[in-house]
Amino acid sequence: MKFYSLNKKAPAVSFKEAVIRGIAPDKGLYFPESFTPLPDSFFEQIEELSKEEIAFNAIHQFVSEEIPNDELREILKNTLDFDFPVVEIEENVATLELFHGPTMAFKDVGARFMAQCLGYFSKGEKNEVTVLVATSGDTGGAVANGFLGVDGVKVVILYPSGKVSDIQERQLTTLGQNITALEVDGTFDDCQKMVKTAFLDDSILSEMKLTSANSINVARWLPQMFYFLFAYKQAKKQGKPIVFSTPSGNFGNICAGLVAQKLGMPVDHFIAATNVNDTVPQFMVTKEYTPKPSKATISNAMDVGDPSNFIRIRHLFDDNFEKLSDNLSSSSFTDDETRSAMSAIYDKSGYVADPHGAVGYLGLKKYQENHEDTYGIFLETAHPVKFLDVVEKTIDKKVPIPEQIEKVMDKEKKSIKIKSYDELKGFLLNQ
Ligand SMILES: *Cc1c(COP(=O)(O)O)cnc(C)c1O
Repeated sequence: MKFYSLNKKAPAVSFKEAVIRGIAPDKGLYFPESFTPLPDSFFEQIEELSKEEIAFNAIHQFVSEEIPNDELREILKNTLDFDFPVVEIEENVATLELFHGPTMAFKDVGARFMAQCLGYFSKGEKNEVTVLVATSGDTGGAVANGFLGVDGVKVVILYPSGKVSDIQERQLTTLGQNITALEVDGTFDDCQKMVKTAFLDDSILSEMKLTSANSINVARWLPQMFYFLFAYKQAKKQGKPIVFSTPSGNFGNICAGLVAQKLGMPVDHFIAATNVNDTVPQFMVTKEYTPKPSKATISNAMDVGDPSNFIRIRHLFDDNFEKLSDNLSSSSFTDDETRSAMSAIYDKSGYVADPHGAVGYLGLKKYQENHEDTYGIFLETAHPVKFLDVVEKTIDKKVPIPEQIEKVMDKEKKSIKIKSYDELKGFLLNQ
């Protein structure tokens, strides 16, 4: 399987090269040249398949020329060694909990899968690969954790100073070894811009192998389709049309869900729920894509004004607005609405949602106002403890700290402060 650049001005490459490059030389995102639907029998018998078998079937066509089956099975086993439960909280409303991994955010799966692919590809290579990644919160911790101690790979994480939660900051600044955190005086968009600039800077590229671990990287993006298949396996018995509501920032997760649909998964509709960073909800109304500077919210992992994966979504639907809007709706919610939803969920069902999950819940409820006869699943993308201040204040209850988080709470933060692209460049060239 080859991956081509969506800007169409760079050659198509193998999965391995797409993973190592991150972004194509013409700045385009890599995209699979084809999608072969899985056989009907796969979906008919999905209840009998293990997580690893589901994942293997789904990803095989994209990677099989580069990763032997045995190796792929091993990578999947290591990536997926925790649970992905669908928990019903109201009639016809369930949440898919994606926070049972080591950093308690859904990005663990993509980060671990990518780290292991890159580790496999780096075996026997002389040159180290440097992974450069911008984070609005959770990517940093998941990437740091996934790549910790992987031979032949160095990781450099950029995060906006003061704009990630205390726990998120600890998760990405305390590991050491092959992981370095750069604390940027700016917003997430500034971090993302610096990373994108570095990938196109010949004076850096001639000195080192640089790749990204944001969801622009195909190895981070594609494995996220597993979630939707795991959820389908659990919700199929409801016998109702299934709809997914995904709290969205860079739109990588929901785009992977749409890939699962493209592979034949029976699902009625997707809802991309956002906070006030509403570039996509606006697009779905006006058909005009107008990126904006990002605004800070309580669901900070979604504070993205120019979502990088939306181009992939448009491409999946041949840039046909009608086809796209048949399958995808999008709505945005304020912080006040999000807090009210967190309280309402807690009062009604005793369930503690984090702000991102609450945005997903709101998107789902809005859709179900006009589509009552559906089984709705909203994705709970982070454990509520990762947004402790907001959650505890909103529901007026203490959230117990799980063991994964306890472990980082007393470790020492280490970061390097930077203000400009030149400082990033200086760091990369002198490390
Ligand atoms: C990254 C993240 C999101 C947004 O996911 P995208 O794939 O960027 O749309 C939502 N919730 C949490 C907790 C996240 O960390």
